[in-house]
Amino acid sequence: YDFALQAHGQQTRKTGELYTQHPLHTAYILAQMKADLPTIAAGLMHDVPEDTDTTLADIQQQFGSEIASLVEGITKLSKIRYTGVERYRESLRKMFLAMTDDLRVILIKFADRLHNLRTLEGVDPKKRLRIAKETLEIYAPIAGLLGIWRLKWQMEDICFKYLYPEEYKKLEYKYEIEKKVELNQYIQKVRNIVSKKLVEAKIEYSIEGRFKHLYSIWQKMTTKDRKFDEIYDVFALRVIVPTVADCYNVLGIIHTLWKPNYNRFKDYIAVPKPNGYRSLHTTVFGPEGKATEFQIRTPEMNLES
Ligand code: MN
Repeated sequence: YDFALQAHGQQTRKTGELYTQHPLHTAYILAQMKADLPTIAAGLMHDVPEDTDTTLADIQQQFGSEIASLVEGITKLSKIRYTGVERYRESLRKMFLAMTDDLRVILIKFADRLHNLRTLEGVDPKKRLRIAKETLEIYAPIAGLLGIWRLKWQMEDICFKYLYPEEYKKLEYKYEIEKKVELNQYIQKVRNIVSKKLVEAKIEYSIEGRFKHLYSIWQKMTTKDRKFDEIYDVFALRVIVPTVADCYNVLGIIHTLWKPNYNRFKDYIAVPKPNGYRSLHTTVFGPEGKATEFQIRTPEMNLES
């Protein structure tokens, strides 16, 4: 941090804040992802060679080759420019991955991009749209491929807000303000019923409510031509229990309480997704016949997803 601070000196960003706020936030996002120490250090220094008089050789000398090569990877990646031309998109994605022999570089690039998105307000409108479009078309899908969902949906929602401001505002009002209050009450009700049964069965558990993010709801509305009220899987209850045996036990308890929708049952524990994702998914006709999705998993599976 001191090194980056010294290198960037009194540089400011378009938002007016001191430049070092940006690498600091980038490093913070990486720390939240539980990235390792070299990755966080490289995050702090990721813009140094490109934007200051301090060189990669200086970083190498002070911090060694592991951190220096991560910073170098970021510098290389920043040279790929987005053209927006359809047929380049796929090759760009491939290049993005191929240019990087250390996946940690991609993580830093994502954290860098997420912070840039969060501060997009300070960028001129034309560039703002370009960055949002590029993120939605290239970064977010790659984050999805790698299974980094938290980053993917955060990036998508910010881009959605800038690219489709009207639709975003409408949906935000409907969903965040009207619908979530109602859903939270419903989730509380279901949670109470399930909790009672799990206590009786002496299963240690935690239950959290999960909401779908705005962009994925909007995507469903547009690709399947549905109205907001016709999209029922906007929330899920996640049940976390100690062992795999507990997972199946909980599934049995839930299916005894409410009838499952046969088509919506997925056993990703017995057959994980290609990216390694594991969990049991089931949608039941809960209280009032309302379609209610459960995701059942162990703490390890939850950490990995
Ligand atoms: Mn940066």
